[in-house]
Amino acid sequence: MKTHRIALVPGDGIGKEVIPAGRTVLEALAAAHPDLHFDFELFDWGGDYYRRHGLMMPADGLDALRKKDAILFGSAGDPDIPDHITLWGLRLKICQGLDQYANIRPTRILPGIESPLRHCRTEDLDWVIVRENSEGEYSGVGGRAHQGQPLEVATDLSLMTRAGVERILRFAFRLAASRPRKLLTVITKSNAQRHAMVMWDEIAAQVASEFPAVTWDKELVDAATARMVNRPASLDTIVATNLHADILSDLAAALAGSLGIAPTANLNPERVTPSMFEPIHGSAFDIMGKGLANPIGTFWSIVLMLEHLGEPHAAQQLMHAIEQVTANPSLHTRDLGGTATTAAVTEAVCAQLAAAKRHTAHA
Ligand code: NAD
Ligand code: MN
Repeated sequence: MKTHRIALVPGDGIGKEVIPAGRTVLEALAAAHPDLHFDFELFDWGGDYYRRHGLMMPADGLDALRKKDAILFGSAGDPDIPDHITLWGLRLKICQGLDQYANIRPTRILPGIESPLRHCRTEDLDWVIVRENSEGEYSGVGGRAHQGQPLEVATDLSLMTRAGVERILRFAFRLAASRPRKLLTVITKSNAQRHAMVMWDEIAAQVASEFPAVTWDKELVDAATARMVNRPASLDTIVATNLHADILSDLAAALAGSLGIAPTANLNPERVTPSMFEPIHGSAFDIMGKGLANPIGTFWSIVLMLEHLGEPHAAQQLMHAIEQVTANPSLHTRDLGGTATTAAVTEAVCAQLAAAKRHTAHA
């Protein structure tokens, strides 16, 4: 019997609503499984912490996280603090500090959810976007000079290392090889960005030779947005840079019904450090504190966390419970056109888990 040590970092905005909901669901899962145990520690980092301490998280905060098996994260972003401070001070500090270099974002149309794409069938849209999560456009290298002067200059350097590109492409090919269609699309902008993106294409071709079973193609990022809308079934596994995949995955989430549903995993595939699981949405200032946040993105992220923790049975059970709940329109939150609250959706998922337990007990 193993106890999984979970760090809970709700952060800001609706993160403070969906992460407690996630904990409730994990507790319901543990109650349904005699050999599943979680040891939670709550970290109150984020905007409120910043107002007290001038930092989004303590300087030695990563050390506390290193002792955990996984991190469940809400959102970084406060209406009264500039976004680049909240993002760099918390989320990127954790992702980059723990070298969670592979960000994966599965996208499917769950039962009961309607895609805004008119002719899209459920089976047409089943993607995993792999986002490079450690460098590129988000390497943080750059600066400003002549601030406030007519001569003002500002730069953000996109850094791509061979090691960084190679490891994310190898991860993506391996993931593609593990999926039924064994299909990978490598997305770049190697027509306009003629140095680093050309290196991506070259490394992709090199890594591809290690994976003869994977069919792969290349697409420019602008064309990729149109392809996602017009020919969703032509895509399966997708790999792209930090910025490109960030944008593409919000589009993917919207095409699958709502940003409120979409999950993500920030993985350190070698398991040297703990990985972090979070809904892809942000703090949602417009609905925070109202109990309207859709918690499904967090619950699906917990499914990814359970898979990573080596609990495939619990992961499957939770995914099934989520799908039972999304299939019922009276349990849809406002982002899906419904009126259900965060609490109602959470209770319904827990009730499904409890019912599944009774079912197994009788079987
Ligand atoms: P957002 O994801 O917070 O919100 C975009 C829209 O989607 C809003 O209308 C919101 O109400 C809706 N929405 C998002 N999640 C929802 C949910 N679970 N249920 C129902 N509706 C939902 O994006 P934004 O407005 O661009 O950003 C707000 C803040 O969050 C900013 O500070 C930004 O930097 C931060 N942010 C943080 C992360 C992160 O920490 N991972 C990601 C994105 C944005
Ligand atoms: Mn994003």
